[in-house]
Amino acid sequence: MSDPIALLAVTTLLSVMMLGIVWSLRRCGQPGVTLWLYSNLTAMGALMLFTLRGTIPDVLGIVVANGALAWALALFYAGTLRFCGRAPPWRLLAACTLAVVAGIVTWRYVFPDFNTRVVIVSAFHAWFCAATGVALVRGRPRAHAASHHLATAGFAFFLAAAHVLRGILSALSVMDDPATLVSPGLNAIFLVLGAIACPALTMGAVLMIHDAMVRRLEAIANTDFLTGVLSRKAFEDEAARELARAARGGGPPVLLIVDIDHFKLVNDTFGHATGDAVLAGFARLAAASLRATDRIGRIGGEEFVVLLPGSSLDEAGHAAERIRAQAEASRVGHAGGQAGVVRYTVSGGYAAWQPGETLAQLTARADTALYMAKLSGRNRMLPYTAGHRAQMAAGGRNGRDGRSRAAAG
Ligand code: GH3
Ligand code: MG
Ligand code: MG
Repeated sequence: MSDPIALLAVTTLLSVMMLGIVWSLRRCGQPGVTLWLYSNLTAMGALMLFTLRGTIPDVLGIVVANGALAWALALFYAGTLRFCGRAPPWRLLAACTLAVVAGIVTWRYVFPDFNTRVVIVSAFHAWFCAATGVALVRGRPRAHAASHHLATAGFAFFLAAAHVLRGILSALSVMDDPATLVSPGLNAIFLVLGAIACPALTMGAVLMIHDAMVRRLEAIANTDFLTGVLSRKAFEDEAARELARAARGGGPPVLLIVDIDHFKLVNDTFGHATGDAVLAGFARLAAASLRATDRIGRIGGEEFVVLLPGSSLDEAGHAAERIRAQAEASRVGHAGGQAGVVRYTVSGGYAAWQPGETLAQLTARADTALYMAKLSGRNRMLPYTAGHRAQMAAGGRNGRDGRSRAAAG
């Protein structure tokens, strides 16, 4: 087997392996994966035809093989656009591929000229590799590390540059006609670069898919499904980071716990779905009234927690009061028997972090203030005071259930 053919055979095998990997990811839920799968399938077929060149008719080894490789690259570009949330321009992709096929047929059968064929194919590959690189740079994630996007884009730009060089050298007729694919040298290198494009870009695609899947799972784990605020675990992680920052000398944060009043009654009167709408509505209004640096999470059924970094107790009191007033003024629509609106109120307790205090200790103090807010009539936000501890000890409160029982009694 001559060198270029051996290299093509190896590239074909690589393509088969990449195909297997993309196949295993076909149900991962990421957009674009199916197109990348078809791209590799098409590239594999094209590479097989290239490998058999000389032993099969030229219409297969040259025309169909080049057309298939061009379509494989167009499909890869389409998959990249989908992956980045954009719609592929299918007509343009088909037109460009058909133009390549028409060019190859013309300069193979009408005016046989190898160099012109290479210029046409190189122009197509250079354009689509560069377009893929641009799509990846534009569509890279902004809130997370984008190293896999950028590395894949970098490789796409490298391929584009190689194809431009190949096109220029061919236009200048620098390279010999390797009609039999046996001449070693520059042509073999360019040939393999062209052949390796799809499997190598797919390798980058697989890394990006894994990135996207990890980000999606992180988002699911960190977000409360019903209300969209932080999950309890994510809130505790962020709060722990904020307390560590405060311990290093940053401004002390204030922790606020908010509980919807008589929420069981909302459920019992208007149904669970309306209860859910109240929870979502409250989370929305509370989140909207906070600063960008504040954090809000849902830590129980109808219980939310807010961390206000670098706030005084007074400032936190104003933020808490704003939330309370907005909740009291809000209306949640409900369908069902007596369609109309639901009104609700919230109670809250807040406490400023003290040096050396753990998140659990801070939460316990804010929870004590919340208990007092419930006990003193609800629909109010109270700061923790030393007197609360004494009242708690006298009242014999026993956890969250104790609050509800005490408030009801
Ligand atoms: P209090 O004013 O003392 O806080 O009384 P409450 O009725 O709000 O508190 P209680 O703890 O008695 O009831 C909370 C209710 O929240 C009971 C539970 O069914 C409901 N709940 C918990 N999670 C959800 C949820 O995800 N959706 C809905 N609709 N209800 C929920
Ligand atoms: Mg409640
Ligand atoms: Mg509660």
